[in-house]
Amino acid sequence: MVYIIRPFRTVMQEVRSVKTIVPTHTVMEGGGFQVRRPAAMGSLMSPFLLLDEMGPVDYAPGKAVGAPWHPHRGFETVTYLLQGEMEHEDSSGAKGTLTPGDVQWMTAGKGIIHSEMPTSKMMLEGGMMHGFQIWVNLPAKDKMMNPRYQDISASESPIAQEDGVWARVVAGECLGVESSIDTVIPITYVHVKMEQGSTLNKALDLDLNGMLYVFKGEIEVEGKSVSDGSLALLSNGTTVQVNATQESEFLILAGPEIGEPIARYGPFVMNTREEIIQAIEDYQNGILA
Ligand code: MN
Repeated sequence: MVYIIRPFRTVMQEVRSVKTIVPTHTVMEGGGFQVRRPAAMGSLMSPFLLLDEMGPVDYAPGKAVGAPWHPHRGFETVTYLLQGEMEHEDSSGAKGTLTPGDVQWMTAGKGIIHSEMPTSKMMLEGGMMHGFQIWVNLPAKDKMMNPRYQDISASESPIAQEDGVWARVVAGECLGVESSIDTVIPITYVHVKMEQGSTLNKALDLDLNGMLYVFKGEIEVEGKSVSDGSLALLSNGTTVQVNATQESEFLILAGPEIGEPIARYGPFVMNTREEIIQAIEDYQNGILA
């Protein structure tokens, strides 16, 4: 009798742990709206350039503020609304309204000029505003791509649910549920709500930079607690296990390391100082968008 010995193949599970916890601080942005953002960002958060939690703030009638007309070049802005109403309008003629659960994935590419404001109803009546804006960097070869929008309404946005875990998959995949958003580089963006005592195992490709932004309650990852208002940067690995020590809410963000120089000035993010000067000149000459 001949035995054929097959090589034994295993799928190595590498569990991610918390590498660094970055606290957040509250600042005023744009026309004077309140955001909570990590106190240190930059290359730590690559490929994300910015993570702003807008509010939560309860505006009195006539007091709601937003970001009037301004330009962008070289990256993407992603707006996800939890409460309130926002209206966007841009130089390409696109216009739309964001209500709770809606996502706007805007690729500025070579240039766009847009306005991001509360709706006139919200300006007049006031009310609660809460949401997120993240900036996703683009690799050099895509920085000057044609601008594009992807508007995904709450009803089109896939939800995964399992044993005390609720997850809206804005981009990427979670618990077998996949988003339809087409991202330039592979991005994972998931909004998770967990009941106290529940557990989530989320697969993430080994080399992606991964992070968790907690905005309610407290979670634990490999023995480290991460509480409301903290950004946890994760070590590399194939999976992250999250235990909810309290009823919690957080974002899972992941993407590849772009590994290129970053030249940043206000609303422009390029690779070199020359490209920034070009962006400013193009804007001043009215040819950015
Ligand atoms: Mn903007």
